Amino acid sequence: MVLIFATIVFLPNNIFTQSGTAAGTVKPLSAQARDFIQKDSKIEADIWKPCVALTFDDGPHKYLTPRLLDILKNNDVKATFFVVGNRMKVYPDIVKRIYNEGHEVGDHTWGHAWLTQIGIGKATWQIKSAKDTIFQTTGVKPKLFRPPYGATNKYIADIVAKMGMRQIIWNVDPCDWRDYTPERTANYILKNTHDGDIILMHDIHANTIKAVPGIISMFRKKGYVFVAVSSILEIRNQRWLAKKAKQDNQILQAKR
Ligand SMILES: [Zn+2]
Repeated sequence: MVLIFATIVFLPNNIFTQSGTAAGTVKPLSAQARDFIQKDSKIEADIWKPCVALTFDDGPHKYLTPRLLDILKNNDVKATFFVVGNRMKVYPDIVKRIYNEGHEVGDHTWGHAWLTQIGIGKATWQIKSAKDTIFQTTGVKPKLFRPPYGATNKYIADIVAKMGMRQIIWNVDPCDWRDYTPERTANYILKNTHDGDIILMHDIHANTIKAVPGIISMFRKKGYVFVAVSSILEIRNQRWLAKKAKQDNQILQAKR
């Protein structure tokens, strides 16, 4: 059986949280607000550094995923891998390596299924089989799920939520599956990424892997840090809480 691992984008640049709401990027606060937050709420200053999450779908690939892991390791970069169950079964050691080297592993269904077209029963099986295999392989239950082709609906969202995972789409899609040159992929990403964004790539294309060193060095030059998807969601949340705390404080001050 030949599986085609191509991602077609049906959704706008967006990330869906478990509740189905769109979570946008919260811009960093002013220096004054930052001082207030650091004094009053024990939030690490690091959450205000510009950050980005690199995500790699459709693997593991026998040769390309280990090559990518070497690059990430040499550059001390943490990423997120949305793995496909039937490939995980063939290359469990690569999935173990992904996890052991500090990256996040997410569910991308058992056979890269088009979930909105196969019925709820089959869709549930696709999601659960990959989730269980990640747990059997790494010993850790995945917290994230990405629907293949970004194809989802409220029923799929409900299944994913009941399994204790968050549905993750992406903010930036360079369409690397079209096998663009590494330069084109890197330049597209740099031009279209903002603080707090999630970038979609695929670790089953050689040109994508070749683009990664350039992407890392370009973001580093701009002061960005690389974090896993769960961390970026937490950072967004903490920034929002901090912003709210600042607003609440302003209201209190005004009342005095
Ligand atoms: Zn995919």
